[in-house]
Amino acid sequence: MRIGAHVDSADPLSEATARAADAVQFFLSDPQGWKAPKPREDADRLRAAEVDLYVHAPYVINVATPNNRIRIPSRKLLLGHATAAAEIGAKGLIVHGGHVNAGDDLAVGFDNWRKTFAYAADAGGFALPVLIENTAGGDNACARRLDALARLWDALGDYEVGFCLDTCHAHAGGEELLDLVDRVKAITGRIDLVHANNSKDTFGSGRDRHDNLDGGTIDPELVVAVIRAAGAPAIVETPGGVDGQATDITFLRDRLGVGSPAA
Ligand SMILES: [Zn+2]
Repeated sequence: MRIGAHVDSADPLSEATARAADAVQFFLSDPQGWKAPKPREDADRLRAAEVDLYVHAPYVINVATPNNRIRIPSRKLLLGHATAAAEIGAKGLIVHGGHVNAGDDLAVGFDNWRKTFAYAADAGGFALPVLIENTAGGDNACARRLDALARLWDALGDYEVGFCLDTCHAHAGGEELLDLVDRVKAITGRIDLVHANNSKDTFGSGRDRHDNLDGGTIDPELVVAVIRAAGAPAIVETPGGVDGQATDITFLRDRLGVGSPAA
């Protein structure tokens, strides 16, 4: 079982070494910007690496929104990221579930997700698995609560869609972590990646502030149980830089009984 961290994108393999991580996640462009990712000079080295790579799509992407001026560039940026992520040998591209605006019909958001996959299919399909991630906040989110997630998966039908389960987002979003993996898998059939984060905020707060595993309001043993039940790789997106994340990775390895890559 691979355990890693979200790291700076400049030199992700060195960041992995510094944390004894066997997986890393990073951005390929400014997460708050609309610029397409540039080809990376270290693409060959990344592709050949022992470390598993995951790419997180920019936060600005919202393929669900009825707002054309956000939705259309979001589709393009997501497709461009899939191509760029595949070029470095990434295992998956993580993208948030998105939302519609207050007063919009959530059904439009689910249908916009379907159109996003149809748009990609017309271009030959996403070049790697796209993992939709559950989110913490908002009353109009496509992947905050499981009732919405079920409708999203219905809308996506036969398209190949992966899922990334974030423990902070689930807790803050109002989904109990106990048995959550079973309830998610009943909908999605799969969990490709766990974002193993504690939450600074309380259950159901709707706030998205990650904490280290031994901090926050979630019993860290519940995070361990989620990873074990999911049987999926885990990425910590926690604060504290190298030290904070290395401590979180070590905690998870100890509790899960898995060795470090150097061992
Ligand atoms: Zn996350």
